[in-house]
Amino acid sequence: MTAAFPPDRPNPPDLVPFAEARAAVLERLEPLPVREVGLADALGCVLAADVAAAEDLPPFANSAMDGFAVRGADLAGAVEAHPVALKITGEVFAGTGGLPAVEPGGAVRIMTGGAIPPGADTVVPVEQTSVEGDTVLVHIDPEGPGRFVREAGEDVRRGTVVLERGRVLDPAAVGMLASVGARTAAVHPRPRVMVVSTGDELVDPGDPLGPGQIRDSNSWLLVAQSRAAGADAMRCDKLRDDPVALRRGFAMAAADGDLVLTSGGVSVGDRDYTRQVLAELGDVRGLRVAMQPGMPQAFGFAAGTPLYGLPGNPVSCFVVFETLVRPALRRLAGHPDDRLDRPRVVARLAGPVRSPEGKVSFLRVRLEVGDDGLVASITGNQGSGVLSSCVAADGLAVVPAERRELPAGSPVQVVLLREDMAWVS
Ligand code: AMP
Ligand code: MG
Repeated sequence: MTAAFPPDRPNPPDLVPFAEARAAVLERLEPLPVREVGLADALGCVLAADVAAAEDLPPFANSAMDGFAVRGADLAGAVEAHPVALKITGEVFAGTGGLPAVEPGGAVRIMTGGAIPPGADTVVPVEQTSVEGDTVLVHIDPEGPGRFVREAGEDVRRGTVVLERGRVLDPAAVGMLASVGARTAAVHPRPRVMVVSTGDELVDPGDPLGPGQIRDSNSWLLVAQSRAAGADAMRCDKLRDDPVALRRGFAMAAADGDLVLTSGGVSVGDRDYTRQVLAELGDVRGLRVAMQPGMPQAFGFAAGTPLYGLPGNPVSCFVVFETLVRPALRRLAGHPDDRLDRPRVVARLAGPVRSPEGKVSFLRVRLEVGDDGLVASITGNQGSGVLSSCVAADGLAVVPAERRELPAGSPVQVVLLREDMAWVS
């Protein structure tokens, strides 16, 4: 059976191919200016400069175990039956500064992270010893000196580049910054995204639904998608389909954000004022992209701030964000060109699909591992307002613009939507 699909409508003459629209948006955006951010704010930001270690890591030779710091030469021949006896002459904890020296035949009690005292070159774990008064008996030769000592700089030498420009600061990277003494990092900051819904029919979750009204889902959806893409995102008050309210609302959002996302009103309905108002605020233009869902869009700069107008239908909004806005957002955030888009995999279609001529289709699919590689199955009704088939989707199967149908078994590219699906690629 062929998957259900909205009926074909004639394509408007001014359709922009998907790849051209993507390039046109990206070429007008640059990474946000570099800023020094504190470590607490660094997670998810893209490093704007290499980071070299200001200090050795670890900064001094220290013990990897709780035990005794000794001279390795003193342990020659120690076995279970004939332990070596050493005199305990002091103790070192993690953080101890003044260190007792270890003389020949002596031992210093040491805790994990304690500095190796002068004279010692070996740590014997406490499990390999027994203590009688101020004497420690070492039962097992730990096979030469140097055991259980973490040398100064063995992890990172001072001056070494530990994190490279373009790297996303993930938790391990943040830990590394702190370890080598960096209090701040030069990054492209997380973009601030202001999200505006437009429409007289919209009601917030929790408020009663009156006749003809629907929930505003797009603002929540777009904030969540923006945050999932690594941005800081905020909902603004939703705007009525009224040019005065739209003008004021868009101007406020543009003043506060690095990127404004608005949904609804970009089509050709009688109250679709968004494009007209945005054209007055700056050079925002309507754009009909040869894609399904998500054709009517708008992009440009309103009062100097980039603004993306997304279609009102929730799935159109979702798909336009994932395929066009997300790369734009990642460009602002400083990600290199080869990391702007979501990863794609190739899968075989479980059943035949149809697609409107002249538009690239993004079909909501579930992925499964079959005998012969990945299989993509349509998740259900592909209507542009049907969010349930989006919730069920692992990815978006891409049907190229020139194909009207693809038979079952055809290989297709699938844009992976889930961060936890690395296993398929
Ligand atoms: P529009 O692009 O304004 O003509 O809207 C297209 C469709 O999307 C209409 O059915 C709207 O009711 C719906 N829609 C617009 N904005 C939202 C929104 N924020 N949340 C949910 N649906 C919306
Ligand atoms: Mg509307």
